[in-house]
Amino acid sequence: MNVYDSGVVEDMLTREGYEVCQKEDGADVVIVNTCSVRQHAEDRACGYLREAAKRKKNKDITLVVMGCMAQREGEKLFKIIPELDIVCGTDSFRELPGMLEKSFRGQSRFYELRSVTSIRKSETVPYGQSPALKGYVSVMRGCNNWCSYCVVPGARGKEKSRAVGDIRDEVKKLVDRGVKEVTMLGQNINAYGKDNGGSASFVEVLEEINKIEGLLRIKFITSHPRDIKAELFTAMKDLDKVVEYLHLPIQAGSDRILKLMNRGYTVSYYMGLVEEMRKVVPGVSLGTDFIVGFPGETEEEFKETLKAAEDIGFDMAYMYKYSQRPGTKAFEMKDTVEEDIIKERHQELLKLQEKISLKKNRGLIGKEVEVLVEGRSKRNIKRLAGRDRGNRMVVFEGSDEVIGKMVSVTIYEATSLTLYGEKGAVPFL
Ligand code: SAH
Ligand code: SF4
Repeated sequence: MNVYDSGVVEDMLTREGYEVCQKEDGADVVIVNTCSVRQHAEDRACGYLREAAKRKKNKDITLVVMGCMAQREGEKLFKIIPELDIVCGTDSFRELPGMLEKSFRGQSRFYELRSVTSIRKSETVPYGQSPALKGYVSVMRGCNNWCSYCVVPGARGKEKSRAVGDIRDEVKKLVDRGVKEVTMLGQNINAYGKDNGGSASFVEVLEEINKIEGLLRIKFITSHPRDIKAELFTAMKDLDKVVEYLHLPIQAGSDRILKLMNRGYTVSYYMGLVEEMRKVVPGVSLGTDFIVGFPGETEEEFKETLKAAEDIGFDMAYMYKYSQRPGTKAFEMKDTVEEDIIKERHQELLKLQEKISLKKNRGLIGKEVEVLVEGRSKRNIKRLAGRDRGNRMVVFEGSDEVIGKMVSVTIYEATSLTLYGEKGAVPFL
């Protein structure tokens, strides 16, 4: 989502005549887009801002902070980093060109935080010297869920859906510029349309996008178990461009913890959804997020998370150590888990998931998968890399001609993170 917002800003400023600087220390304007989901992300952003601030001694640069940390901290950031010039909130970034102008005219140190209730028609198209293969489109912003540990609703405001026509136009523009795979973005994507009277559902958006010629794949993140409906599974099965991958964060395997997290479902409800999906969508791959060490999480409750991971059998998972976020409900909870225990549990869950992913990936040995080839592998430039329809990384030998195309690859080896394919993949298209 932040990469997408940075792209919108890059696009806007490039249109205004700015140029992206290849070397950081050559820049006249430094814009830091921030995430607040975990403390670690904010610490890194502050570290980066401080480094950039040092350069102000030798060069007249304009230092800008945007994104969630800007929205949450606002004016306070000027105290933390006195060299800052502009603080730009999550819903104000479209005003950045004007804000920069003001700053150049000598208006010093100001901030703008606002809350918008609808999204402007066009968000962005990639400014492409080199046409990108993958594009991102925001279909809705904000979140109404108020999970007790999460800063997003406070930082990004209420759910705001875009009109289907606007989303379709934006995807078409991306495809015209060479994009082959589009990822639809929303914090709570299955709630799409609820805020504008349900004029269209997320499945209808998928149906519209699926009609676009030249587009090869459609992905979407993130789904919330509370808002997901069976019609999504049918769409995943029936719409040829929609990949068979669902990212469905579970967060924890204990009903008590899920309740404290205000997630609005139980483990058995979650498992029921997965069972239904696996029945409808053959070969579907499932990804999730876990938070370990939520306040009050006992050893037994953590064991329930391990059991859920084992029973459900996720293809891939992101694990996060619980991070206390000021302003959230969980921040007030007293019974915090010790840092060392959180680390241990995190390691244990990681190891278990590695084992599960390895087993699942090994199950694909000998099978043929469809890969959208993204380019040369970063680790070994003799090889190509891309993803299959289950979002798994596939590495194989082949020529540059197939970059940007879909090919069929037979898997001969697998690790927990990567599938390795036979030489001489056969192009699909
Ligand atoms: N809207 C999405 C993504 C939210 S942020 C969703 O609901 O899935 C991505 C992930 O960060 C979450 O799924 C959660 O696992 C994690 N996360 C959010 N707040 C956190 C916190 N305070 N500490 C640790 N992990 C957190
Ligand atoms: Fe945060 Fe929950 Fe909304 Fe995801 S669904 S953004 S975790 S409040």
